[in-house]
Amino acid sequence: MIKTILPGATIGVLGGGQLGRMLANAGSELGYRFITLDPTPNGPMGQVSEQIVAAYSDADAARMLAQQADVITYEFENVSSEVAGMLMKESYVPQGNKLLHTTQHRLREKRAIEAAGVQVAPYREITSVDDLREAIAHFGTPSVLKTATGGYDGKGQWVIRSEEEIEEAYAALSKAKTELVLEKFIRFTKEISVIAARSPQGEVKVFPASENIHVQNILHLSIVPARISDDLRQQAEQLAIQIAEGLQAVGLIAVEMFVTEEGSLFVNELAPRPHNSGHYTMEACITSQFEQHVRAVCNLPLGDPSLRQPVVMVNVLGQHVEPLLERMAVQDSLANELQVSTKVHLYGKADAVHNRKMGHVNVLASSIEQAMQWIERTGIWSEEWNSWNK
Ligand code: AMP
Repeated sequence: MIKTILPGATIGVLGGGQLGRMLANAGSELGYRFITLDPTPNGPMGQVSEQIVAAYSDADAARMLAQQADVITYEFENVSSEVAGMLMKESYVPQGNKLLHTTQHRLREKRAIEAAGVQVAPYREITSVDDLREAIAHFGTPSVLKTATGGYDGKGQWVIRSEEEIEEAYAALSKAKTELVLEKFIRFTKEISVIAARSPQGEVKVFPASENIHVQNILHLSIVPARISDDLRQQAEQLAIQIAEGLQAVGLIAVEMFVTEEGSLFVNELAPRPHNSGHYTMEACITSQFEQHVRAVCNLPLGDPSLRQPVVMVNVLGQHVEPLLERMAVQDSLANELQVSTKVHLYGKADAVHNRKMGHVNVLASSIEQAMQWIERTGIWSEEWNSWNK
């Protein structure tokens, strides 16, 4: 049954990291209240909302969340299906648990994307080292071996560059005790993503495609508009709509894709939640991805996702926090000189651990080049780029 949840209601969120924090900040502007269930007290979301401090698997705590919230959503994928199922019985979870179940497993996810009529990198399920040998003979090297569950930011994967690596790669990844999948290596020229939103009544809107640059498998920059042809941009946005509709998503669904030299698109991964590559929307779009997610799960009319101006989002990792804070005045005068506007977001995390996502900066400009100049000239990220590669 579709329900419309009006402002004034309480939204319960499984997970209390930065995505939950930004969701609560955006949703409270619309008049909603928030409560999170997260094991870490006073985390990014707990600082700006009510919190139940408990493990995600704690059934009593989940029941308490169900009692206090009018609607429940999540800000990470690894919600156990038992907890999600229990919450669906005791509360209102417009996103259901089917899409979660699909996106928690690479093979299920790939099959669902294909069923929606969209192309993924050619792949094979691997259940033995002999399977792997055969699949490598078929795809050639390099190929990418991935665990079906639990991988993120490049963890749980191995680029097999020669046949000699087969046994070692298989032994290393099969320790994870999950199915494995081998993918053909896509010689992409760019990685892009499109975030779509769908409401329970079936309204769908997409945000502009973002070009994503990773360093050591961690998102470094999102560049919008993506530097691809208009035709490809439209195709990418259309694919995201097709996936949101085909998978009957509710709320946000982020679609990561590879772009090849010939102009083909292959979907790599889905995330059924706000996504790091959509943080640019906070100042650069009329409606942010966070507000859009709240609107979608509450079945309000979706907001206008149009881009106001070119933007580059740069992630602030643990090692970037000190230089960012120390040189704020210098960065502001540089922004004046280059005629860009910068907006700093920090997530309130206590420990600035190396490579941990601590915040991001949205750099708005009349061109991508100007925004990139600001990022380069601050020196914060270029110094780090060097030390990343050490
Ligand atoms: P994933 O964990 O699937 O998002 O992969 C992390 C990163 O590994 C991607 O952002 C790509 O840069 C790279 N990668 C993953 N799969 C492939 C593939 N099939 N071909 C080429 N590069 C890949």
